Amino acid sequence: MSARRGRPADGGPRVIVVGAGFAGLAAVKALDRADAQVMLVDRNIYSTFQPLLYQVATGGLNPGDVAFPLRVFASKHGARFRHSELQSIDAAGRRITLTDGAVLDYDYLVLGIGVSAAYYGVTGAALAELRALDDAFPEVDRADENIRLVEMAPALLAPFHPKLQANALTELRRRGVDVHLNTKIKEITEDRVILENGDELPSDVTVWAAGVSGPAGVSQWGLPQGHGGRIEVGHDLRVAGQDRIFAVGDIALIDDQPLSQVAQPAIQTGRHAGRQIVRLIAGRPAQPFRYHDKGIMATIGRRSAVVELPHGVRIHGTLAWLAWLGLHLFYLLGGRNRLSAMLNLSYRYLIWGHGGGVIVGDDPPAALPGGPAQLVPGAAAGSRQPPP
Ligand SMILES: Cc1cc2nc3c(=O)[nH]c(=O)nc-3n(C[C@H](O)[C@H](O)[C@H](O)COP(=O)(O)OP(=O)(O)OC[C@H]3O[C@@H](n4cnc5c(N)ncnc54)[C@H](O)[C@@H]3O)c2cc1C
Repeated sequence: MSARRGRPADGGPRVIVVGAGFAGLAAVKALDRADAQVMLVDRNIYSTFQPLLYQVATGGLNPGDVAFPLRVFASKHGARFRHSELQSIDAAGRRITLTDGAVLDYDYLVLGIGVSAAYYGVTGAALAELRALDDAFPEVDRADENIRLVEMAPALLAPFHPKLQANALTELRRRGVDVHLNTKIKEITEDRVILENGDELPSDVTVWAAGVSGPAGVSQWGLPQGHGGRIEVGHDLRVAGQDRIFAVGDIALIDDQPLSQVAQPAIQTGRHAGRQIVRLIAGRPAQPFRYHDKGIMATIGRRSAVVELPHGVRIHGTLAWLAWLGLHLFYLLGGRNRLSAMLNLSYRYLIWGHGGGVIVGDDPPAALPGGPAQLVPGAAAGSRQPPP
């Protein structure tokens, strides 16, 4: 493992952080000045800024705008990067095995491996922004387009205040999205979505965005799993029954503080785990984790978002959208990514409705197993009815 000023070239505790999402990166940053050898392991050579994937999927951003090279990140923080995938954990022997066959010993292990799509229930997408491409597809009659959003719950955006939920619903309907609440899906076929009440919705493109669960491989690791396949952790974020393994981010389930699977809890838990390892190495006891609520926000489309801050502050509309955009650009890793994302999004939204604001490219390889951006069979159905 690497050496840096104030960090041992060899010897010293070995810390392995698996997963380079919000949580894993925050852990590595917190370990920056630790008297330890830190290794970051990820199955990709880049970290993906998932909150802007929807803009990539709808042609507003390049994939490269939301990806940051992990070797650069690791070396900046005095860690080493290993491109591989965690296969198994030998907690008693304090070692992990990677899918490339390598066996790595650790003194402390941080698991920030995120979650995968879960195939139950239904919620939505924002395909409505593609309607701004009228100039690019003059042959498509708007009257033939039909975007439906099917949601099992009685409201959209469950964690938000009912007023903001109502605003989101109004905004989507204003954009021509046909929203079906209290509606459960029974089956998805190649060209239709079949509802539990027997109704059928014809669909050319179906997007499943219904929730997440722990990746399948986790159950082989011998760690306790709770609701949604998340790994159960104690107050200080150490995995229940383990004194040297932490779980952070989306994959962690804290008994008395079940946190939403979004960026802030991931960042805060990752940072906390890193800091606790520093304390443990120094011979001090670990401290309990406390979540600092900074509020929640969601974008609905151009000039429309909802923001809910602590102490009952609620914003929607253009101001909320600008806040959403500014915050996401701020958190994006890398100056070049920030600049190119700002340029691409400004161009897209300033020339709105003239078709040129879309980025095109070749289709990705047919399958992206385990990849972060997947449009898969599912819930939001966009259909073009055949001309009579
Ligand atoms: C499309 C989309 C939009 C979102 N929008 C928002 C938003 O607007 N606001 C918000 O707050 N949150 C949003 N989220 C949620 C947010 O992105 C997640 O909560 C956050 O990324 C969780 O961070 P994490 O570090 O726990 O996991 P992740 O960011 O998922 O990172 C996990 C990492 O682990 C790696 N990995 C997984 N398994 C292994 C393995 N076995 N071995 C090695 N590496 C492995 C993966 O490659 C990945 O790099 C969105 C998520 C998605 C998918």
